[in-house]
Amino acid sequence: MIKLALAKGRLLGPSVRLLESMGYDLSEAKESRKLVIDDLLHNARFLIAKPMDVPVYVEYGAADVGIVGQDALRESGANVYEPAVLGYGNCRLVVAGKSEYKGAEWRLIAGLRVATKYPRATKQYFAARGISAETIQVFGSVELAPMVGLADLIVDVVDTGRTLRENGLVELAEIFKSQAALIVNRASHTLQVSEIRTLIEKIQNSKFVDA
Ligand code: AMP
Repeated sequence: MIKLALAKGRLLGPSVRLLESMGYDLSEAKESRKLVIDDLLHNARFLIAKPMDVPVYVEYGAADVGIVGQDALRESGANVYEPAVLGYGNCRLVVAGKSEYKGAEWRLIAGLRVATKYPRATKQYFAARGISAETIQVFGSVELAPMVGLADLIVDVVDTGRTLRENGLVELAEIFKSQAALIVNRASHTLQVSEIRTLIEKIQNSKFVDA
């Protein structure tokens, strides 16, 4: 049986539609709160996990394969294969701050504090550029932090930019672009080579486009 970990949240709907377009039965994912869904006909088990946890399940072999955003994948630092990107869940990880930082030499300000759900990617980005900044981890509503003096800047994923705008923030720099990706456990990649190759081919041949 092949085990696939799926990220819940924004990616779950399109991931379920992609897998259904390939013939899998995930009707239970839409109807229940089950975290484990079996499609016995196709010898597949789906695990529904938090995005940041999907790379962990796959790295440790609790799942053979995962569908997750590259933002969560990079943040986890997990040692997994990433054989295909899936073309949906597009967003960008950016540095943002109050509008007065735009065009200013914000990189030179001493004692910057950066609030983020992505502490690893944030520390890497600032360290690689020699910008001195303290990273403060929060677990949601990151845009709140500069408004109340918790931090000077944020690092967060942006899609349309509406959340930044509505909270008086502007984008200052892009860290990386992200979309949904297929990831594979290193041992499964060797041991279940034909199942995994078939899965990758089915994904690549699927005409799925997220509407
Ligand atoms: P937007 O207002 O469209 O720029 O969306 C930004 C908000 O949605 C932020 O609070 C982000 O944390 C969240 N967000 C945007 N894109 C994604 C994504 N692909 N995955 C998870 N969260 C996202």
